[in-house]
Amino acid sequence: MTLKLESFWAKPGFPVKSRLAPTPSGFIHLGNELNFILTWLLVRSRQGKLVLRIDDMDRERFRPAYLEDLFFRLEELGLDWDEGPIGPEDFEKNWSQTLRIERYAETLKKLLDRDLIYPCICTRKTGACSCESHQNPLDFPDLPWRILCKKTQVIQEEELRSFCGLNPITLPFSNHLFASELNFVVKRRDGKPAYQICSLTDDYDLGINLVVRGEDLLGSSLNQLFLARQIGMHYFEESWFIHHPILADNDGKKISKSTGNQPLRLSKNQVFEEFGKWMGWKKGPENLNQCLELFQETHSNQP
Ligand SMILES: [Zn+2]
Repeated sequence: MTLKLESFWAKPGFPVKSRLAPTPSGFIHLGNELNFILTWLLVRSRQGKLVLRIDDMDRERFRPAYLEDLFFRLEELGLDWDEGPIGPEDFEKNWSQTLRIERYAETLKKLLDRDLIYPCICTRKTGACSCESHQNPLDFPDLPWRILCKKTQVIQEEELRSFCGLNPITLPFSNHLFASELNFVVKRRDGKPAYQICSLTDDYDLGINLVVRGEDLLGSSLNQLFLARQIGMHYFEESWFIHHPILADNDGKKISKSTGNQPLRLSKNQVFEEFGKWMGWKKGPENLNQCLELFQETHSNQP
């Protein structure tokens, strides 16, 4: 792949802060590892700050073994971070998203105060949601909440891709106000805040200004920026978003987490070699330091 980082390098001295944001709902796989290495390189080559921010709101699929595997693997690859949990125990005690429910409720409250939320009574069979006109009470139990978007505020991902013309997509989106989905869910049926609310609130509170994600999460970035604009989280709107191609298996399908007893695992040398291939480098790096050297050579217009 070719990274288009002109806008990223164009602001020398701008204090970059990014995050590794894994979800412990499976063992870490190569696709996660490439994303972590790329994020680490972008931050370290700009003398920025890196946060480990673990996304564990989905506790049904969470397992302690996945969390332990994550810390083990980060250490094995030599990826360090400046802020965040130092290990599984510290994470559970001080950093879990389940400890931040009140903060997420505040974000939802801001949307409520602006009359932007309605409860949805649709079932799978109902088809497209039209509940916004039904005036259902918000305190009705077990109903998801949706955010109101006007049809003109929604852009299809395909449309956005052709509009950007970039791959990977590197954008400050600040001139755009688009959601990727009409009236997307902000509170789940089980009462928990939706991923978009947690992710936005965490990134905002941590002062994140660089988000590195796979292309499959482009829609999420749009929805989070849309939310940020609605409730005046202006700082977040100025962030960089780098959406890189997703690593596919031989059948072209996205590689997803392995949830068996043992993770499918490459040696760390193989991971760095794969990273070199992914970046389109002629010679394969053998370790993280070589990755950094090659990254800086490739993007020699860095400050
Ligand atoms: Zn509905």
